[in-house]
Amino acid sequence: MTQQTGTSEPEAQETAVETARRQLERAAAHLDVDPGTIERLKHPDKVHQVSIPLKRDDGDTEILTGYRAQHDSVRGPFKGGLRYHPEVDAEECIGLSMWMTWKCAVMDLPFGGGKGGIVVNPKDLSRDEKERLTRRFAEELREVVGPMKDIPAPDMGTDPQTMAWFMDAYSMQEGETQPGVVTGKPPVIGGSYGREESPGHSVAIVAREAIDYYDWDIEDTTVAVQGFGSVGANAARSLDDWGATVVAVSDVNGAIYDPDGLDTKDVEGHDEVPGMVSGYDAPEKLSNSDLLELDVDILIPAAIGNVLTADNANDVQARMIVEGANGPTTTAADAVFEERGIPVLPDILANAGGVTVSYFEWLQDINRRQWTLERVTEELEAEMLKAWDAVCEEYEARDVTWRDAAYIVALSRVAEAHDARGLWP
Ligand code: GLU
Repeated sequence: MTQQTGTSEPEAQETAVETARRQLERAAAHLDVDPGTIERLKHPDKVHQVSIPLKRDDGDTEILTGYRAQHDSVRGPFKGGLRYHPEVDAEECIGLSMWMTWKCAVMDLPFGGGKGGIVVNPKDLSRDEKERLTRRFAEELREVVGPMKDIPAPDMGTDPQTMAWFMDAYSMQEGETQPGVVTGKPPVIGGSYGREESPGHSVAIVAREAIDYYDWDIEDTTVAVQGFGSVGANAARSLDDWGATVVAVSDVNGAIYDPDGLDTKDVEGHDEVPGMVSGYDAPEKLSNSDLLELDVDILIPAAIGNVLTADNANDVQARMIVEGANGPTTTAADAVFEERGIPVLPDILANAGGVTVSYFEWLQDINRRQWTLERVTEELEAEMLKAWDAVCEEYEARDVTWRDAAYIVALSRVAEAHDARGLWP
């Protein structure tokens, strides 16, 4: 349970599913949706748990646990990432799969929500072990995934190579090449150009639109980014390109700070060269928690979940928060930001460029025709602006937060689809 804000007790860790359910209830309060549908949406359709035997390089066999949570498929196949992380568990996958349902709906994509993963620290695996583990995981999930059923993608600890192994293992067993079973593959085997940059790029687009909405000048806007991996680095670089001043970025080891602005292209991303961010020669080094409390215009948490909590929300000095990671703000921190009038542009909109380009990739796979990077960039921009306008409309029509507005857009689409399809039997 979450502590009330203002107490001296540290906030207890809220699970992703608890946060996701609260957010759903808040949005439901604004809509006339059948309570039975809301109740149903608080629960996943199915959660698959598998035991994956892995032969380690030293010959020992280890049994690892994998999950795939499938939340809702009323608008189309389940869609969402596979995460390799020591803290993966069923509850986390369920919560993250719920967020994928809303993320796909807010973008109006014909997908529902899924999320899965393996309880493992990918840093403890050799490349060969990771390959064997991924292939066996694909086999364990083979019956429940597929281009028209459930389409995994990269997430924390997985990357295009992981998707290539997954797609290959699935295709070999099916007896035909099925590129559409996963997205986020390397472009040479049916991946989309621009997929890797897309979640970070959409974070930057949403920040840019919000800057415009509040009548700020992007040239005068300072930005701090927690987590300079694929999402954070691409968000920082796009905002830097558009004239903003990125003053601080971090990796797990710490942050670098330059009040005059960092050269975001010169700093190598954590996913490019691990450990290079905190090792970069910058005027000042800070801790990750110092970065979250910097006096900047925009704070982009783009590392892991639950970093903005009741414990630090009152110390955040940023004028706006744009969520790059999934679930970086706890419910209690959200309440503090609402009270303090700090807008929080939510994950389900801000980083939704990832799944949007995944959708483009799936279309390219089905049609066996690759798009150019220019087309991907143009269509992503158009989809983001369409979603931004829909969220803005709700934000202005009702006295709600940006997160509520995005949930209202998403929930009304999902609820309407449930209503149209009905309950069977
Ligand atoms: N894992 C990403 C996310 O959380 C992408 C999901 C996808 O492309 O299916 O949005």
